[in-house]
Amino acid sequence: TAIENLTVTQAQQEIKDLSDDLIKWGREYYEDDDPSVEDYVYDAHYARLVALEKAYPTLMMPDSPTQRVAAGNAVSGSSRGLSKVIHPVPMLSLGDVFSVQELIDWDAVTTKNAGLQQSYNLELKIDGLAISLKYAQGKLIQASTRGDGSIGEDVTANVKTITEIPKVLKEPLTIEVRGEIYMGKESFARLNRQRDEAGETVFANPRNAAAGSLRQLDAKITAERKLSSFIYYTAQNTVLGVNTQSGVLARFRQLGFPVNADNRVIDKMSDVKMYIDEFTAKRDTLPFGIDGVVVKVNDLDMENELGNTVKIPRWSIAYKFPPEEALTIVKDITWTV
Ligand code: NAD
Repeated sequence: TAIENLTVTQAQQEIKDLSDDLIKWGREYYEDDDPSVEDYVYDAHYARLVALEKAYPTLMMPDSPTQRVAAGNAVSGSSRGLSKVIHPVPMLSLGDVFSVQELIDWDAVTTKNAGLQQSYNLELKIDGLAISLKYAQGKLIQASTRGDGSIGEDVTANVKTITEIPKVLKEPLTIEVRGEIYMGKESFARLNRQRDEAGETVFANPRNAAAGSLRQLDAKITAERKLSSFIYYTAQNTVLGVNTQSGVLARFRQLGFPVNADNRVIDKMSDVKMYIDEFTAKRDTLPFGIDGVVVKVNDLDMENELGNTVKIPRWSIAYKFPPEEALTIVKDITWTV
């Protein structure tokens, strides 16, 4: 039913039903690493909830999934035996859009808020799970998952088994960095083949396989599953001495972090279309899964000025690929081996 044709009672009921579904799916996805619906189903329900809350702001529930990072996630890792880690700087989600036009509209708002036209750093949206890595004088001392954004799970022992992640940086910096842990397509296919042969349930997609493999009590299991990583963020830019997001990535590379090389700086948002088209075409051939493109204001002072909401940054947004693409990819991964 079109939102304008709903009665208030109907709208209230629909808001409750959508929230209940999203929280349940969130629990399956974030806690159990075992979703029962495809991402596009989740995204469509989420978009409908956002639209309803916009039309009826007074009906928004205090614990709405639109106001929380990873709604449905009770940081149950502790019940798996993983201890909790507090994130002094919250680990956020990203706002998402599904068309170039919405990116252009978002740019108009950003430009207005920032007071001048921005350059953007475009990055691939890696389909994995977020990780926080703490280094003291260049040594890796703690790794944790995003959890509910404020509290994550300690996965230090597990992350130390990932060869791509440096245990010691090339400079003795004290810094917390963030990025993505993912499972490459080949490792995913191999793992699911082994599980299938052993009569075990297979993982729905590489993201869930990566999450399930990282959030293990026994680091030996993580070590057997080949996980990879790309690092892309720090809240402590001053430690790096750079003033752009593209500069951050270059510094990360110097420090020895794995950094995805496909980022690109654009000076006007309309140029984003070329990048999206390019990676829509290349997506199948990449050795890792991507579910979209992340657009980030390149100027770090401006990033700081634009700030964040309780759930998402105002200086960054994700463009998500259409669902047919996602389905094709999952199909390819499962059936080409
Ligand atoms: P998200 O995964 O859509 O986007 C935020 C995340 O993107 C960040 O936390 C980060 O980990 C990741 N990311 C990857 N590459 C990045 C880059 N280059 N720069 C910055 N961040 C990058 O948001 P979310 O809040 O984690 O999850 C919401 C999404 O998860 C939904 O849109 C849906 O697709 C999926 N989901 C699915 C189900 C389901 O049941 N299928 C349930 C819950 C969530």
